[in-house]
Amino acid sequence: MTSIQNNLDEVRATLPAGVKLVAVSKFHPLEKLKEAYLAGLRDFGESNVKELQTKQPQMPSDVCWHFIGHLQTNKVKYIAPYIDLIHSVDSFKLMKEINHRASINNRIIKCLLQLHMAEEEQKHGFIPDKCIEMLTDGEWRKLDNIKICGIMTMATNTSDSTIIHRDFAGAKQLFDYIKTNFFPNDSDFSIRSYGMSGDYHIAISEGSNMVRVGTRIFGEREY
Ligand SMILES: *Cc1c(COP(=O)(O)O)cnc(C)c1O
Repeated sequence: MTSIQNNLDEVRATLPAGVKLVAVSKFHPLEKLKEAYLAGLRDFGESNVKELQTKQPQMPSDVCWHFIGHLQTNKVKYIAPYIDLIHSVDSFKLMKEINHRASINNRIIKCLLQLHMAEEEQKHGFIPDKCIEMLTDGEWRKLDNIKICGIMTMATNTSDSTIIHRDFAGAKQLFDYIKTNFFPNDSDFSIRSYGMSGDYHIAISEGSNMVRVGTRIFGEREY
């Protein structure tokens, strides 16, 4: 058994029913993705458009591609034909562009609202108040070619698990608030994407139902 298959089995064994695994394959070579594919994995996460553009055509067509990194509006057009879920939507401007490109491709693209929960300065993600403001404004309801399916976040980069618990608990609270106030009858609004190799157990204990795991599956990245 290969080590990737081994790692995958180990990670899968610890995931409760209902928690989806996205394997973060950024910076890893195609051979490793193919190995994971053969081990049954279909959901891959990438954070760079150029890298994704190289890998996507070389993988089987039933792969679900997740975009998890910062997405510049001028690059949306490259991934719009095939991207399955964009986790990193952090502005209305980006939502409009994704909608525009999705419409050109005759698709509806699923999106998550990336929320900035961490203590430290992070460059990306909606400040919670701004996200609520954007949703209250309501213009997003006219964007027929995107589907907002939930939220994504990252915890503070710390070894203090109390803080990590707090960040994820805050994300869950926000999810519930947004669900109640803006998506009460929308069963598609259901995804809580948080938890990576180092903190996915905590994330699940705080209500995550989609974890994005890289290192734990593929080993250390070579930058
Ligand atoms: C790289 C990355 C991950 C995976 O991180 P690991 O620690 O390798 O599991 C998850 N989410 C995002 C947004 C990332 O950029």
